[in-house]
Amino acid sequence: MEKQHYIDRAEQTFYKVYNRFPVVFDHGKGVCLYDTDGQEYLDFGAGIAVMGLGYSCEELKETMKEQVDKLCHTSNLFYNVPSVEAGEKLLKASGMEKVFFTNSGAEAIEGLLKIAKRYAFNKGMAPDYEIIAMKHSFHGRTLGALSVTGNDHYQEPFAPLVPGIRFATFNDLESVKAVWSEKTCAVMMETIQGEGGIYPATKEFLTGVRNLCDEHDALLLLDEIQCGMGRSGYMFAWQGYDVIPDGMSVAKALGNGVPVGAFLAQGKAASAIVPGDHGTTYGGNPFVCAAASKVLDIFEEKKLVEHVREIGEYLWNRLDELVLQYDCVKEHRGKGLIQGLEFAGAVAPVVSNALLEQKLVLISAGSNIIRFVPPLVIEKTDVDEMIKRLKAAIEQVGK
Ligand SMILES: *Cc1c(COP(=O)(O)O)cnc(C)c1O
Repeated sequence: MEKQHYIDRAEQTFYKVYNRFPVVFDHGKGVCLYDTDGQEYLDFGAGIAVMGLGYSCEELKETMKEQVDKLCHTSNLFYNVPSVEAGEKLLKASGMEKVFFTNSGAEAIEGLLKIAKRYAFNKGMAPDYEIIAMKHSFHGRTLGALSVTGNDHYQEPFAPLVPGIRFATFNDLESVKAVWSEKTCAVMMETIQGEGGIYPATKEFLTGVRNLCDEHDALLLLDEIQCGMGRSGYMFAWQGYDVIPDGMSVAKALGNGVPVGAFLAQGKAASAIVPGDHGTTYGGNPFVCAAASKVLDIFEEKKLVEHVREIGEYLWNRLDELVLQYDCVKEHRGKGLIQGLEFAGAVAPVVSNALLEQKLVLISAGSNIIRFVPPLVIEKTDVDEMIKRLKAAIEQVGK
C-alpha cells in the first residue's frame, strides 16, 4: 500500500511528462535495485546507461562523502582541485585538448552547437550557416539540443527551433552530400544512435563524413553521451573507428549518478571559443568533479573497457540465440554493452511490463526495440540470469 501511496502523490505533484512503471525504487547494490517492498530487480538499464560502475560503488561513495565534508561548490570565479584532475583525466582518455563541464547531456550538446556557431562566425560566414544532423537522432530536450534531434514528434510543439538545421539519414553518406551546401559549418551525430534504436555508425559512413568535413572546413561533432564512457568496448565509441572528431559530448556514465557532463574539443574547434562566450554556475563544481575524477580512476583500475569487450561479446552471443529461437525477435544490433533487440511490431512496451514481473529492468528505445545498457561491471552469470528472465517474459507475452 505504501508504494501506491507514493505513486499517487507523485502523479499529483509532477508535470505529467513520463509514463512511469509502477515501481518505487529505494536502494541499489551492484547490478541490483530494490523497491520499497524489498523486492530485488536485476537491472540491465542502469538508469539509462548512467550507472556504469553499478549501484553503491564503495570506492566512489567514499570519495563523494569526503568531498561533501570538504567543499561542494565555489562557482567558476575560482579554481578548484577536483575539476582540474577530472578535466585532465578526460583529456587524456579522449585525446581532446579542451574541456568544459556541464550539468547534463543536453547542456554538453548546447556547448557543441555554440562551438559550431562560433567557428562559423570566426570564419566570417554569413549568419545563415547550416548544421547537418541525423534523422532518428537524440541529443536532448533543451531548445538547441531539440533542434538537432531528428524526431518530428519531439520538435513540432516547440517550433520554431534553432534555424539552419538540415537532416540527413544516418549511415547514408549520399544523403549527407544531398543536404550539404556552402553554408554547412558542422555535422552533429551520435557515434552509436541510442534512443533511435541502437544503430552504430558504419566505418564507411563516419569516415565519409569526416572526409566531407575536412574538404569543406566544417566541424565533426560526435555525441558520446550514451555510447561513450567505455560502453562500446572503447572509452569513446569513435576510438573504434579511424576517425577523430573536432568536438564531442559526454555525460550519462561520467558521474555514475552524479549529474555531470562535458563537451570537449581539439584543434580548430578547441580554439573557437574565447573568454565570455560561455559559462555555468554549477558546472564543474568540486563535488561533481571529485565523483567524475574517481569514476575515471576506477575505469582504469578495474580495466573496465577490456571487461566490456569480453562481457559484451558474451551478451552478443546469448542475445543472438533469441533471434534464432523466437519469431517475434527480428534483429539484433549494437556493440559492447550497448545492444538492442528489435521486435516484430510494437511489443517492446508489453515485453517491458512482463519483464518487471520477472524482476528484470530493461528499457525500450522506440516502440519495438529493447535496449541493453547494463552496468559495465556485469558478469556472465548476470547475463545468464537476464536471458532466463527475458525468455520467460517473451514467452509470457507470446512468441
Ligand atoms: C541522454 C542523451 C542526451 C541528453 O542528456 P540529458 O542528460 O538527458 O540532457 C543527449 N544525447 C544522447 C545520445 C543521449 O543518450
